[in-house]
Amino acid sequence: MSIENWNSTAEQIKFDLDSVVDGRSYQSQSERCFTKCSPIDGRALPSVICSGQLDVDLAVQSARQSFTKASWLNMPLEERKQCLYRLADLIEANTSELALLDCLEMGKSMFNLIYDDVPTCARSFRWFAEALDKLYDYTAPPRAGALGTITREAIGVVACIVPWNYPLISTAWKIAPALAMGNSVILKPAEQSTFSAIKLAHLALEAGIPEGVLNVITGDGETGKLLALHNDVDMVSFTGSTEVGKLLMQYAGQSNLKRVALECGGKSPFIVLNSSKQLPYAAKSLARHMFFNQGQICSSASRLIVEADVEAELLQLIKQESLNYQPGNPLDMANRVGAMVSLDACHKVAASVNQTVGQGGQIVCGGQQVSPVTGGAYFEPTIITNLTNDMDIAQQEVFGPVLSVIRADSPEHALQLANDTRYGLAGSVWSDDLNAAHKIANGLKAGAVHVNCYGEDDLSAPFGGFKQSGMGKDKSIWSLQQYANLKSTWFRLTES
Ligand code: NAD
Repeated sequence: MSIENWNSTAEQIKFDLDSVVDGRSYQSQSERCFTKCSPIDGRALPSVICSGQLDVDLAVQSARQSFTKASWLNMPLEERKQCLYRLADLIEANTSELALLDCLEMGKSMFNLIYDDVPTCARSFRWFAEALDKLYDYTAPPRAGALGTITREAIGVVACIVPWNYPLISTAWKIAPALAMGNSVILKPAEQSTFSAIKLAHLALEAGIPEGVLNVITGDGETGKLLALHNDVDMVSFTGSTEVGKLLMQYAGQSNLKRVALECGGKSPFIVLNSSKQLPYAAKSLARHMFFNQGQICSSASRLIVEADVEAELLQLIKQESLNYQPGNPLDMANRVGAMVSLDACHKVAASVNQTVGQGGQIVCGGQQVSPVTGGAYFEPTIITNLTNDMDIAQQEVFGPVLSVIRADSPEHALQLANDTRYGLAGSVWSDDLNAAHKIANGLKAGAVHVNCYGEDDLSAPFGGFKQSGMGKDKSIWSLQQYANLKSTWFRLTES
């Protein structure tokens, strides 16, 4: 569809603002709202109601009742699986609407939403549906007179709190495995990207997932806090910033010691050694994983650590590649990169760049807020050199299209710089010397490591961090297990 068509569809779109509780639209009792406008061009969007204690209590009650009733938990696995397959089909059938809702709210390009976010979301439901009856439990090593079984049980009521940068994908990576294991879920989407989550809850009902099994409650951080402090929530699965992740652990301690799974921030190193002969491909890969989605990616390769001999050539190549990631109107299918989430986010990125320049950082390209659409929130792909690893820009998550470049004196120095961060989400090393590459890959303290590539992962491998990037896992069988309790049961066996 052309930009004109998407614009006119956007004008007619009906925003459903109500939470979904116990299988029905539910109008929150709270009077608190999150007001917002679209980052595309500042057009007005409806406010999101920030659910309060009464609303959260009702959502938790709905999830608890559905779990106790066990119509989902005890549904034959084949049927549970078919519900999740149907949901995946419905997600695909509603691609345009889901994509447009996210595009209007958080500014991501329609092209990517249609060809990446929505299909990846649907694929996640299929993947976990397919896995749920392939998962076997264990028996303890055989022993005369006793049999020990080790089984996985659904945890109960799982609250999923997600961010706005990949609304559909982050959500699917949590609720698909949580539902597949038989739990009842309360999803709290980010206040900046709420509408596609509400749509998803209605699609789940249409797919046959019983009432109360997937509840969506709208709201901001305060609503999330009420969920995380709730004594009848058994687990919080969170994706978002490290700061909020730390708070969630406190809330668990202050309430019922609920299980907490955290997927938090990152400042991932992209190491290029003198021994790399793949500079053009490295530059292409780095630009893709740094500037895509306006750099609003937890695992963006935001720290280039490079040996001196290849630095100049590599920077030229990345600068050239960055031209492919200039932001533009996300409603135009020709644009692969849309807007940042808000003007506020843009201003924070600008402040961080200006501070770095004041400290001696040199801009290779970009560095400015731009206006391909009047009133929108857009920032140029930016490369900054002449940095040391202890500077704020090299240590803090910018969450925008800003690449920090740090020179390393040797492969050993590169590894030491790479690990000198509180984060440990992802990383990569580029070298044609297999031993050197292996040594660095082995030494990187990060959950997802790439050698001569970046972002090659798929649903089959776990994704999650080390250190202050969190300790939860999304994707894969390991993520399914996260949504289950392990139970040991011993049977005394007697001779009859
Ligand atoms: P955020 O931490 O501000 O918010 C994330 C979610 O938590 C939102 O739904 C928000 O409403 C809620 N929240 C905020 N304060 C809360 C509180 N006190 N109690 C409970 N809930 C609260 O993060 P964001 O700005 O939405 O997203 C960007 C961050 O997410 C970045 O740090 C990014 O690295 C991280 N992220 C991590 C991953 C990963 O897989 N590791 C993926 C995507 C994003």
